[in-house]
Amino acid sequence: MGEVAGSPQFTHISVDDFRVVYANLTGGNRVTTGRQVPYCLFTDPELARIGLSETDGKVTGILYRLFKVPMEANLRARTLSETRGFLKTLVEADSDRILGFTAFGVGAGEILATVQIAMVAGLPYTTLRDAGLTHPTLVEGLIPLFSSAASAHKVVDTRRAQTSAA
Ligand SMILES: Cc1cc2nc3c(=O)[nH]c(=O)nc-3n(C[C@H](O)[C@H](O)[C@H](O)COP(=O)(O)OP(=O)(O)OC[C@H]3O[C@@H](n4cnc5c(N)ncnc54)[C@H](O)[C@@H]3O)c2cc1C
Repeated sequence: MGEVAGSPQFTHISVDDFRVVYANLTGGNRVTTGRQVPYCLFTDPELARIGLSETDGKVTGILYRLFKVPMEANLRARTLSETRGFLKTLVEADSDRILGFTAFGVGAGEILATVQIAMVAGLPYTTLRDAGLTHPTLVEGLIPLFSSAASAHKVVDTRRAQTSAA
């Protein structure tokens, strides 16, 4: 289990490998495939990611809506004078399912966890958009992100783009 087994090289993944092995030794039936692999680079500012990226979306040809706002739209980031970066998310075009999320900015790793929980629970992006998140927190910045549909909403039909480019 862990790195020696070829799992993604993160502490939380090695720990999860242990949980999978332990669960299976005690009668469970868990696997390591198909699980979420979130990560955070603790740079300044942080870069945190989970799920499908734009690059992945282009490769797989999945239709998605792209939401993106600068960290300047995050009121807590403004009070911290840390407005570098952005929040970005991919939502499946035919549903409200969150496919992936990227945060580049102050507290990115903490913001990521909220989106991950929504993804684990299978919540539509509208649940986060419509939640009354505490002001002023960094997580509150998810509201302008998921409300940015009017200005940043974009369905990228990568299958069509690939066809016309061929
Ligand atoms: C500088 C650095 C920073 C990192 N930062 C992060 C981070 O911020 N977040 C994150 O998620 N991951 C981070 N990682 C990666 C993370 O540390 C590893 O993915 C994780 O420790 C892997 O856990 P593991 O149990 O598979 O292996 P390890 O933690 O390497 O554990 C293997 C253990 O086996 C022991 N061992 C080796 N050979 C033998 C032997 N022959 N007999 C007995 N024991 C042996 C070793 O001493 C060690 O204790 C970082 C890694 C590095 C190097």
